[in-house]
Amino acid sequence: MPERAVLACYAHPDDEQGVTGFLRRCVLHGVRVGIVCATRGEVGEIADPSLATPETLGAVREQELRRAAAVIGVRDVFFLDYRDSGMAGSPANADPRAFINADPHEAVGRLVRVIRAFKPTLIITFDESGGYGHPDHLAICRWATEAFHAAADPSRYPEAGAAFAPARLYYASFGRSMIKQFAEFLAQQNIPSPFPNVPLDQIGLADERITHTVDVAEYVELKRRSLGEHRTQLSPSAMLSALPPELWRAFWGVECYALVAGVPLPSDAPKDDLFAGL
Ligand SMILES: [Zn+2]
Repeated sequence: MPERAVLACYAHPDDEQGVTGFLRRCVLHGVRVGIVCATRGEVGEIADPSLATPETLGAVREQELRRAAAVIGVRDVFFLDYRDSGMAGSPANADPRAFINADPHEAVGRLVRVIRAFKPTLIITFDESGGYGHPDHLAICRWATEAFHAAADPSRYPEAGAAFAPARLYYASFGRSMIKQFAEFLAQQNIPSPFPNVPLDQIGLADERITHTVDVAEYVELKRRSLGEHRTQLSPSAMLSALPPELWRAFWGVECYALVAGVPLPSDAPKDDLFAGL
C-alpha cells in the first residue's frame, strides 16, 4: 500500500475538533497526519483570565493546539501566521493582518507550500458554511479548496515547491439532521443555543451530500481529552461542558465527510473509508 497522509486545514486552534476521531484512526493505521491552522485564534475567548491575556492569547492557543494534537498522536502542526478575524461584524474584522483580509493569491500560496511539502493523500477542511459561519472558516474552506487544485498545477506557485496532487478533498461537518436533533435537545433542556443567530437549516452538510459517516465512538474519550487541552476556550458554563455523557457520545461519536473533489469513489466503497479505491 502506498504511503498515505492526511492534512486537515483549519482557521483556529480547536477547529480541528470536528475531525479528531478520524485523525486518530489514521494515526493508528500508520497514516501521516498534519494540521494546518491559518491563525492562532488571537481574538477568541479567554475562559479563565489566569490562562492568558489578549496579548498572549495567540501564543497560548498555539500551545493548546499542539497539546490537543499530541493527545491524538499528531505532531505535525503548521501555522499560516495570519491573525484571527473575529466573529462577523466585530472590530477585529478590519485588522489588515486578519485572515479574511489576506491577499487571496498569497493565502492560497501559503497553503500550496504546505501541501507540496507534506504531500497529503487527502485534504480535509470545513464545508462552505464554515460549521457555523465564522468568516475565517468560510475563508479556509474557499482557499484550501483552491489550494487543493493549485498544488497539482506546476504552472501555479512554482516557487512553492514541486507540484503535488492530493487524491481527494473532503469537507467535514455535522450533518444537518444531526444539528437539528442537537438543537432540539438543547431547547428541551433549556440550554441556550451556542449559535443563536445562525439559521440551522443552512449550516453543516446537507444529509444527501454526506459520502462518509465515520463511527469514532471508540475515540470519544480521547476526543474529549483533546478538546480539553483548549482550556482558554472552555468555560465551565459552556454548552459543551453541560452536555451529559450519553449526548456527548451520540454527537461526537460520529463524524461526517463529503467528498468534493478528486478521485471518484468506487461504487462499492464502504461508507467509512475515505481512502477507498486509492
Ligand atoms: Zn474556528
